[in-house]
Amino acid sequence: MRIEDHRRSDNFEDRGTGRGGRGGGLPIQALVSIVRLLGFKGTLIAGAVCAIAFVLMPAGLRQALLGTLTGGGRGAASAPGASVCAASPANGAACDFSRVVLASTEDVWAGKFQARELPDYGAARNAYQAPTLVVFANSVSTGGCGGATSDVGPFYCPADQKLYIDPSFYDLMERRLRAPGDFAQAYVIAHEVGHHVQHLIGSGRRKPEGDTSNQASVRVELQADCLAGVWGHRSRATLQITDEDLREALTAAHAIGDDSLGHSDERKFTHGSSEQRARWFRRGFDSGDARQCDTFAVRSASDL
Ligand SMILES: [Zn+2]
Repeated sequence: MRIEDHRRSDNFEDRGTGRGGRGGGLPIQALVSIVRLLGFKGTLIAGAVCAIAFVLMPAGLRQALLGTLTGGGRGAASAPGASVCAASPANGAACDFSRVVLASTEDVWAGKFQARELPDYGAARNAYQAPTLVVFANSVSTGGCGGATSDVGPFYCPADQKLYIDPSFYDLMERRLRAPGDFAQAYVIAHEVGHHVQHLIGSGRRKPEGDTSNQASVRVELQADCLAGVWGHRSRATLQITDEDLREALTAAHAIGDDSLGHSDERKFTHGSSEQRARWFRRGFDSGDARQCDTFAVRSASDL
């Protein structure tokens, strides 16, 4: 990917590194409990289910990840309110890169909304309202989805229409999930933007009759993957996305599939299997048509 000459989005917020440690946010167990209490239709909806893959992973791996994200590192040592983007050269590059990817999602989705090339769920589809990307370290407060720590991974909060990412997640992807590369990072942003698009078109809260909550969640997640693919298709030329970049994205989709994270019981999947995630991403990427991303039109969740 080449980003040098591209527009940087201003829909970007640097929340600072906070007070360090994990004190500012909800403990992860509390967050999980809230998600379970609220269920699929709760206020945390799609954003929280993104996080659930990381919540449900095996204890040993989770501990390792928590250590990576929160243990005694740069975050804990940072001064209150210090800029996340200025905290390290790696963070600076991640912030800059994120703003380029976000800007390209704005261009793609503004065009799709204008042309009304979207799955139809009966919701009003006016002009695209771009979301804001918030970078934080350690913990963050949202405008309507409560507090969260970095442990939950990147997430989207529909109440304030913001995406939340701790740049250390990229490092985690590379080292722990073996999904390196800048396009894999772009895929994460495009997936969260996909949840925002779902919020606008009205698919993010759907629960087809006969689906369990987990199956409905899988539909939402696979659709977000497909919408990320649509962005990839439309940005292929402008960002010079190569076959190698595409392999990175599919590796990322594979690495964060439920089965790769150690969930062997398909009924408990909330994101879909690795194969499903890569396939739906590919469907969006190959067609460039968001209307091909209608996971809710698939009659039975077992056929997704
Ligand atoms: Zn998601």
